[in-house]
Amino acid sequence: NAVSAWGVTTGDPNVIVGVIDTGVRYSHQDLIGNMWVNAGEIPGNSVDDDGNGYVDDVYGINAITGSGDPMDDHDHGTHVAGTIAATANDAGQHVGVAYGTKIMALKFIAASGTGATSDAIACIDYAIEQGVDILNNSWGGGGFSQALLDAINAANDAGILFVAAAGNSALDNDVSPHYPSNYEVANIVAVAAIDRNGLLAGFSNYGTNSVDLGAPGVAILSCTASSDSSYASFEGTSMASPHVAGVAALLASQYPSAGVTALKHCLFLTSSLPLSFAWRGGTCGMVD
Ligand code: CA
Repeated sequence: NAVSAWGVTTGDPNVIVGVIDTGVRYSHQDLIGNMWVNAGEIPGNSVDDDGNGYVDDVYGINAITGSGDPMDDHDHGTHVAGTIAATANDAGQHVGVAYGTKIMALKFIAASGTGATSDAIACIDYAIEQGVDILNNSWGGGGFSQALLDAINAANDAGILFVAAAGNSALDNDVSPHYPSNYEVANIVAVAAIDRNGLLAGFSNYGTNSVDLGAPGVAILSCTASSDSSYASFEGTSMASPHVAGVAALLASQYPSAGVTALKHCLFLTSSLPLSFAWRGGTCGMVD
C-alpha cells in the first residue's frame, strides 16, 4: 500500500534514517539526492570543521577507520539505503519507501561482511549526536553485549526508533537470542522476512516474543555499490528491516512529535495479518 501512503506523505526531509551497515554508495544516482548532509562540515577541506572528531563527515562516518567517508565497499548498506529512500520520479529505476526523507550512512561492517561491536556503538553514538530519528540495523550476530545494550538504551532515551533484522538462520529467537534484535529496549522493532505470498521466508528467524513485524524480504530490487547506476535483487531479513524503517520514517514525517512508543504502536496496530497464519510460533503482522 505504499502508493496509497504516498498520497498522504512521501516523507519529510527533516526526518533522518541512519543506516548502520557496510556504508552507502552516496554517489549512486538513486541516493545522492536523498543523503543527509552535515551542515557543520565543509566538504573536502580535510578539516574537522564541526569538531566532532571526524574529518569531512558530510554524509556520515566510517567507524572502522574513524574517517568521515562512509563509502560502501560491499553492496549491502547501499541496498538497504535504497529500500528506505531511493529517490523517485527521476532517471533511476528504483524508489524507496520513504523517498522524501534522508539517509545517514554509518559504516561499521567491512567488505568482508564482519564488524566490531565497538564500531557499531560508535555509529549509534554519532547518530544520537546528529539527531537521527530512526536507525536501521540489518545486521546481527555475536553474544550479549552490555556496552551495545547501553548504547541502544541511550538511543531510546534520545527518541530514536531502532529497527533491527531478526536474522536469517530459520531459528526461533525466543529460544536462541539474536542480537541486537533481541535486546529488551522499548525502541527496538525486530523484523522477520516474508515473501510475496505473505509467507514467512524459509530462512527467516521468528519468535512470538522476540519478533515484532514481517516485511518483504525475498527478491527485493534495490541499489548496489558497484556503480552509480547498479541494481540487484537480494533476499534476507536485512531487506525486510528497511521496509519497516521506511514506513516508520513516513509515520515520523506525518506525526513529528509522536515519539518512539507511539511510532511502535502505530506500526504494530496498522500491520496486516499475513495471508497465511503459518508463522512458526509468531503472531505478528506484515508492516502496512
Ligand atoms: Ca566533523
